[in-house]
Amino acid sequence: GAGAPADGGFRPKMETAVSGLVAVEEARRFVLSACHRLPAAEVPLADALGLVAARPIRSSEPVPPFANSSMDGYALRSGDVAGGPAKLRVVGALMAGDDPAGLSVGEGEAVRIMTGAALPSGADAVCMIEHTRPEGDLVLIEEAVGPGTNVRRPGEDIAAGEEVFAAGESLGPAHIGVLASLGVAWVDVFPRPRVGVLSTGDELVAGPGPLAPGKIRDSNRPGLLARLRADGFEPIDLGWVGDEPRALAQALVVAAPRCDAVLTSGGVSVGDRDLVKVVLEQLGGQQARWMQVAVRPGKPFAFSTFPPRATPVFGLPGNPVSALVSYELFARPALRLMAGHPNLERPRLPAIAGADMRRQADGRLHLVRVVVTTGPDGLEARPSGAQGSHQLRALAAANALAFLPDGGGVGAG
Ligand code: AMP
Ligand code: MG
Repeated sequence: GAGAPADGGFRPKMETAVSGLVAVEEARRFVLSACHRLPAAEVPLADALGLVAARPIRSSEPVPPFANSSMDGYALRSGDVAGGPAKLRVVGALMAGDDPAGLSVGEGEAVRIMTGAALPSGADAVCMIEHTRPEGDLVLIEEAVGPGTNVRRPGEDIAAGEEVFAAGESLGPAHIGVLASLGVAWVDVFPRPRVGVLSTGDELVAGPGPLAPGKIRDSNRPGLLARLRADGFEPIDLGWVGDEPRALAQALVVAAPRCDAVLTSGGVSVGDRDLVKVVLEQLGGQQARWMQVAVRPGKPFAFSTFPPRATPVFGLPGNPVSALVSYELFARPALRLMAGHPNLERPRLPAIAGADMRRQADGRLHLVRVVVTTGPDGLEARPSGAQGSHQLRALAAANALAFLPDGGGVGAG
């Protein structure tokens, strides 16, 4: 409207001049201290992949539920074949799923049995079919079979009443299978954080189609949405806003109540149109902080929490490599904390430089996009391509980030 200030009234509350560098660990501590585990909830087993058990899970029944055969063969009394080869009378057959009631194995008798079928009463062992020969109503058992051979005992994997998984256990595909084997339909877990992703910048165009002069395609939003999904979080596409403080503020105010956390990209550096940091300071209150982190890529970073639920908002840098690396350093550990994971970090391993990795001393940790392979002396790391923070291809080619501390770098070997 008439008389409204051109900047929408948003002016930095704090000094937004570049100050000293903040160590990665300090920036991470600051972020983590503002984030909290989400309240536990019951989810259907089919939705629990990658989620963390909120309390210990006990079995209500044994697995396997009954004694059954681990082989296709003949159920028998081991005492009948203790002395070596013997001929037994075949008195019936049991397939997997058959009720064994009504069949029993007496002295000198055997029951043909398939893998997974319940052991008939009287039998205490199974001879595998490869070591038998049918002879009319009889079967020749070609070798001695000890008691318990090829029999799966009830509860030998999991006993009834046993603690199967501790609280804090991350549920993978095999966990889902174990819980299904116990008849569990709902599990008490920390829910999957719902994470909004908002791109910012007047230069951005979403999707295909011609590019007008000066425009580029939005790659951060698809990349971050994919990263979130790959990390087991629930991505929410919040679209795109231009470099306009009111539109930015509006987008964040609408998004915060819908999301457990929000990622923005762009607008946190020292440029004239870097307004995300300003809006975060305006709306975020005490928690708002704009930092220059002692790392490359990923130096500019803003963080805030938003009312009404203190939703964490991560102001990631705009350059595509920086956005994803900054996510790795700050957002991913925080989201894992919210999701109840006891372990917030990716594994860190020592590796040998497979090529020269020279750098200038600049007070910052350098994160080099590398391909790590197994060499004769252990892991070897080589740069995966051009290392500019706008050159995303080398990150796509990389399987690790090499931590190259401040100084002159390292030579091959
Ligand atoms: P900024 O910090 O907003 O100045 O952005 C830094 C650089 O990242 C500029 O070259 C931007 O054009 C670029 N950039 C910002 N957002 C995106 C995005 N969503 N996708 C691709 N590049 C971006
Ligand atoms: Mg921008």
